[in-house]
Amino acid sequence: MKKHQMLIGGKWVDPASGDWFETLNPFTAKPWALVPRGSKPDVDRAVEAADCAYRGEWRKLTATARGALLRKLGDLIASEAQRLSEIESTDNGKLIAEMRGQLNYIPQWFYYFGGLADKIEGRVIPIDKPGVFNFTREEPLGVVAAITAWNSPLLLATWKLAPALAAGNTVVWKPSEYSSISAFAFGELFEKAGFPPGVVNIVTGFGPEVGEPLTTHPKVAKIAFTGGDKTGEHIYQMAAKGIKPVTLELGGKSANIVFDDAELDDAVKGVVSGIFAATGQTCIAGSRALIHRPIYAEFVERLLALAKTARMGDPLDPGTQVGPVTTQPQYNKILDYIRIAKEEGAVCRMGGGPAKRPECGAGWFVEPTIFTDVKPEMRIANEEVFGPVLSIIPFDDEEEALRIANNTVYGLAAGVWTKSIRRALLMSERLEAGTVWVNTYRAVSYMSPFGGYKRSGIGRESGLDAIREYLQTKSVWIDIAGNAPNPFVMR
Ligand code: NAD
Repeated sequence: MKKHQMLIGGKWVDPASGDWFETLNPFTAKPWALVPRGSKPDVDRAVEAADCAYRGEWRKLTATARGALLRKLGDLIASEAQRLSEIESTDNGKLIAEMRGQLNYIPQWFYYFGGLADKIEGRVIPIDKPGVFNFTREEPLGVVAAITAWNSPLLLATWKLAPALAAGNTVVWKPSEYSSISAFAFGELFEKAGFPPGVVNIVTGFGPEVGEPLTTHPKVAKIAFTGGDKTGEHIYQMAAKGIKPVTLELGGKSANIVFDDAELDDAVKGVVSGIFAATGQTCIAGSRALIHRPIYAEFVERLLALAKTARMGDPLDPGTQVGPVTTQPQYNKILDYIRIAKEEGAVCRMGGGPAKRPECGAGWFVEPTIFTDVKPEMRIANEEVFGPVLSIIPFDDEEEALRIANNTVYGLAAGVWTKSIRRALLMSERLEAGTVWVNTYRAVSYMSPFGGYKRSGIGRESGLDAIREYLQTKSVWIDIAGNAPNPFVMR
């Protein structure tokens, strides 16, 4: 098994602990590589390296030169997309088709934010005081800690690294302990593109051992986090102690709402893609299907018919549609929720347990599961499962659909299926979610802001909004009158 090293200050290094841990292939449930077990001394070294780069070579580069490096990196990722997607698929069990799509798309973030790097401009303020010139500068924050989840390792990191670097910050990135391997291959590309040493550092390991000292390090100026809301809440508390800004991209319990005037075949596909694509392991999973009562019975039948055709198996096989769950704890958690839903009285119409199909091998597979007769107050309708488990809830009218959809602590995304423009606009205005899709689902772009309402997060990734998350504004005052005013009053 390959024993990997961490990237600190432009060098590939062993962990200070001298320990490595195994990362498992979710399809075989067997170890396939060794990940350095980072700890506080590694974090300290990485933050020092990032701080040194921030104050040194990186700062001296023009914004145009920074942008050029980001675009070069985009080209390198494009040329390595196949290899990177195979690593991701092996390490986290997500479908090769999905990971290949992500890796082919990731360069766009580096092109877009590379292009933005030299378009970050301040303003001249037509100040109300005579004899004074006032302008603003948009400046980077310093060292950014990027902490990511396991479900789309390089995409989630890209959403942080591209705007953070474009804005002139340096980064220490801690990938998830469950899916670190693609980070090492990614790190090599930063080197190859010619980023100065220390601009991007990678420290691997566990939350308490790496994430915690990183979050609390006094020289870390900002924390950009993707993960569960409980961890996000903890990180927010740590950040508060250091008065550090955060971007938090957290979980969801998104509603996919189908009205009786919808194109039903499209809506059925949209609901299936919302919950069974990526084995339901996506923050934007449409884990609640809200179905208009006049079409409820027909919709459920059509949904079952399509969902039952899902091919499970090896995620590296391009024909596979539902792969394994990434981690054993997550597998157990999904099975627990299925049991809880049954105990609460939800009716299991499909799946409802571990997948024992021969094509699933020894992997952690859960049968795509559909519950009907779900009541909005049940746990299965409120808590994030992060797996292929759908709760179906009927509704009578728009007001009831909105009440059910918004009655959650989360607010990441929502889907609306209707042919009525009035309904589409009404729902998109009143749904409490950072993203609303109408007659589509699971669409993201480097150009469009992404983030959560309520417990789904703070801040936005992608688009113009994202770069502002990594900048701070300085106001500069210059006296041009030359006569010192009365020193005892405010000017
Ligand atoms: P998690 O919260 O368990 O872990 C996320 C990261 O935080 C990991 O790198 C982990 O090591 C680190 N961490 C854990 N404890 C820490 C601590 N005390 N201090 C600092 N870092 C710590 O989440 P997960 O299980 O890896 O990912 C699944 C969750 O991520 C789901 O809730 C999902 O909805 C969410 N997610 C959100 C988005 C989004 O953009 N909103 C995208 C993907 C996943």
